[in-house]
Amino acid sequence: MGDLRSNHFHAGLDIRTGGREGLNVYAAADGYVSRIAVFTGGYGNVIFLKHHNGTTTVYGHLSALNDTLGTYLRQAQYQKQTFEIDLRPTPNQFPVKKGDVIALSGNTGGSGGPHLHFEIRDDRDNLINPLLYNFSELRDEVPPYFERVALRTLTPESRLNGEYARQGFTPVRRGDGTYGLSQTVTATGLLGLEILAYDKTTGSPYRNGINCVEVKLDGREMFTYNMNSFPHEETRFINVHMDYETERTFGQRYHRCYVADGNGLTLYHTDQPTIPTRRGRLPMMDGRPHEVSVTLFDLYQNSAVLRFTVQPDTTAATRPLTLKPGLNGAEAATVTTDGNILKLAVRNLPDTVAPPATLQEGKASTQQPASYVHNNAAVYLIDLNRTLPDAVQVGAGRVATNLKKRITPGRDERYEDANLTLQFGPKTLFDTLYLAVRQVPAWGFEINQNTIPLNDYLTATWTTSNVTDTMRTRMYLVDNSGRETFLGGTWQKNKITFRTRELGRFQLMTDTTPPKVQFASVTPKGISARIADDLSGIRSFRAMVDGQWLLMQYDYKRSLLWSDKLNPDEPLPDGAEVMLEVTDNAGNVTAIQAVVQTPKPKAKPKPVVKRKRRR
Ligand SMILES: [Zn+2]
Repeated sequence: MGDLRSNHFHAGLDIRTGGREGLNVYAAADGYVSRIAVFTGGYGNVIFLKHHNGTTTVYGHLSALNDTLGTYLRQAQYQKQTFEIDLRPTPNQFPVKKGDVIALSGNTGGSGGPHLHFEIRDDRDNLINPLLYNFSELRDEVPPYFERVALRTLTPESRLNGEYARQGFTPVRRGDGTYGLSQTVTATGLLGLEILAYDKTTGSPYRNGINCVEVKLDGREMFTYNMNSFPHEETRFINVHMDYETERTFGQRYHRCYVADGNGLTLYHTDQPTIPTRRGRLPMMDGRPHEVSVTLFDLYQNSAVLRFTVQPDTTAATRPLTLKPGLNGAEAATVTTDGNILKLAVRNLPDTVAPPATLQEGKASTQQPASYVHNNAAVYLIDLNRTLPDAVQVGAGRVATNLKKRITPGRDERYEDANLTLQFGPKTLFDTLYLAVRQVPAWGFEINQNTIPLNDYLTATWTTSNVTDTMRTRMYLVDNSGRETFLGGTWQKNKITFRTRELGRFQLMTDTTPPKVQFASVTPKGISARIADDLSGIRSFRAMVDGQWLLMQYDYKRSLLWSDKLNPDEPLPDGAEVMLEVTDNAGNVTAIQAVVQTPKPKAKPKPVVKRKRRR
């Protein structure tokens, strides 16, 4: 429970089934079936049971439902002629008793291996940690553990080991079992703490999410995070709970131990909860050393402690901004944006004193002195809440920022230029976005970077005259490794309008290749086929037998379709005509045909006479 996943907190237990499917799944308590659904991804085949005390239990990734529920599901699928379906039976339709077999376990949907996904929700749709219900089968004497720790500066005045930066540390185990840091930490200003931490149970090699984190500063409680329960609708706040940029860049999901701007999760307790600029941020303001302790707890009385001291950074204010002049005299600049701070580091400056930066915003220009010097680079911290420069000039070097506009969360906002219109809804953003747009007419445009999370969708309209085949051309999101995700969009003349829930690089691509479809078997016992698509992905499929719709099960992980008959005793008629049609997201269609044939009985293998070995 609480494992950090892509766009959601894992909301229950994954009960492994030893690599097997088809194990009995029993109702956890008396109640009735309130929901039955089939999703290609996500839960796969799933049952929701509503219980008399108002709680709901959820059983996901099922391979099959019991006969009664299976027949009900198939009838509905035939009636609506669809594989994916979401049904809400009435309370008196399917009562269950504790211990009834409701289904068989499986590996359907977004499951990476056979297991049962089990959830408990209360009557207000809060997800409850099932471990609170005492599973006597589980033994856990293994404490949670730290893998990495990171600290980051949070205001332009903050410094960490002489820099405005995020720095990672590897905790070391001390003799007494606690963790410490081997490196010295000096800091001033407000600091944010992040941890990469996991938990395990006895006898299992698999790492799980963390149940509870407590951070203290000089013995005072600053921040607690508790995964015993959270509201279902808050799950996407995971993208501001964890360090999203690190997740996107390195695939590591750090818990931030402070409540970042725009984080509406209600599972924290912090000091100074009414001061949004505090809420777990660690103040290093008074020039004195401070002790930080972080404790991880699981639900079985196991814990782990990390302690380290932050020394004051006394040099920060007095350090002279002197440089050794660069040998080649050519400035090299790196620009990073961290929240509302644009950080520009310039190396190889010809001067011995860091020159001021010139910020150009429209026709106005202002000067800003260097914030500090580190590793012979002059560093400029530009607060984007105060200025939104189009370009920054240091010495002879000039850096364009592509910054266009401040976009505020909580209201409708619009950006418009000659080719691009962006429409932000009140829930699109978690936090203020310093909108940066870079257009490359040859392929598309970039909106900031994919390291900034979106809460809800953003609608974009892009005008281009470069596209000839608008029928098959749609918008794709392209990540740093060049992998594309289909976004879609609708064309109106030379304008495509689409929605996205991620920022980054947007590119038009043309998919003219229809899906690959191949029958694996077509017999009276059933039909199976392999389906795949190269770019836009599978949108829909349809199988007909002698003109009648036939339900096909779909497992995207195995690229496999197979038939599931309404009445298992009624085989497909020999000689029946089968048509299978698969459509991709760009609208390319492949339809193939076959005739149902009883396979010829295989020749009986000749009896093999085993020779007895003689000793
Ligand atoms: Zn799960």
